[in-house]
Amino acid sequence: MAQFRNFKMVDYVVYGRGSFNQLDEILAPHRKGDTPMIFLLDHFFEGKPLANRIPLRGKDKIIFADVTFEPKTKQVDALAQQLKDEFGMISGVIGIGGGSAMDLAKAVSLMMTNPGSSADYQGWDLVKNRGVYKAGIPTLSGTGAEVSRTTVLTGPTRKLGMNSDFTPFDQIVLDPELTKNAPVNQRFYTGMDCYIHCIESLQGTYLNEFSKSYGEKALQLCQHIFLEKETWDDDCDNKLMMASYAGGMSIAYSQVGVAHAVSYGLSYLLGTKHGIGNCIVMNHLQEYYPQGVDEFKRMVEKNKIEIPVGICKGLSDEQFDTMINVSLGMKPLWENALGAGWEKIMTREKLRALFEKL
Ligand code: NAD
Ligand code: ZN
Repeated sequence: MAQFRNFKMVDYVVYGRGSFNQLDEILAPHRKGDTPMIFLLDHFFEGKPLANRIPLRGKDKIIFADVTFEPKTKQVDALAQQLKDEFGMISGVIGIGGGSAMDLAKAVSLMMTNPGSSADYQGWDLVKNRGVYKAGIPTLSGTGAEVSRTTVLTGPTRKLGMNSDFTPFDQIVLDPELTKNAPVNQRFYTGMDCYIHCIESLQGTYLNEFSKSYGEKALQLCQHIFLEKETWDDDCDNKLMMASYAGGMSIAYSQVGVAHAVSYGLSYLLGTKHGIGNCIVMNHLQEYYPQGVDEFKRMVEKNKIEIPVGICKGLSDEQFDTMINVSLGMKPLWENALGAGWEKIMTREKLRALFEKL
């Protein structure tokens, strides 16, 4: 393997309040004959004004994406099949929503041109063909899914992304107006995903100046928004959207760490969602990220957020083993967090004790 990662980025980025209004113009050159653009819109927006602002033309269609649960390979396969049956081919797919809707759009784009099931492509660089045109438009800020080269899917045997050079969006539209009025708790959990990306990247052994430059900026924005601001305002939405972008760029050239590795275990067994799961774990990581955890706790308190506790109470040995296996399977995350000798540090017993605290 080459020593330095040569990573593919998003092709086009537009940022600004109201930039969503440019969508029609942005999509125009990517329309192929009369094949439609498909708008995968987070189901939260069904009946909301945003649904009426989508620039539909010809056979274009809005599909409300059910994001009650995080995206599954079965859901992706069904959506791609539905589009093939109905239209044969499409011009592109536009994911509008939180990380879940954006990930669904990325995966559906790839499954329009790659045979089999999306589960066949969970892993690194398994995707063979470029997908159809895809654009991402966040309505929550924090995951960094808008810039990443992965789409996280829960499949029959694992929760793992389709990581590939074909995965990043062709276009993203960063319009902070779309995140206005997101529920306080959800906004915090997703925002903390970004904060935790920064801590894990900046405290990791994979850190280099590229990651550090983006990570420090994102961290500074998070500290300003979640600790210094008296009340939430448009400026916070503007800043959190850029923090999410920079946080995503930071981990693109490093890796996440302990909170993510453990949170993946929770999510696989209990279906705990990414943002809240990371928060539940972060609460107990003083040993690994002392300053970050201290600051995280101040953010929780200042923003008056409840972080669930006791979610692993009463689980069986077998269930703990499942979570431990999923978590220890995330080798690069542990290596980034604890260094090359991580297996000696994070033993099964130690990890079990951590899960029992959650
Ligand atoms: P989400 O997309 O799961 O959405 C959470 C909830 O918020 C949903 O109920 C949704 O309907 C609602 N919602 C979305 N926008 C809203 C708005 N403006 N107002 C009110 N409600 C709104 O949440 P998320 O935290 O953005 O994303 C988590 C997902 O992202 C997980 O599936 C995770 O695996 C994925 N993820 C992907 C990457 C990546 O690099 N691809 C990185 C991190 C997380
Ligand atoms: Zn994350």
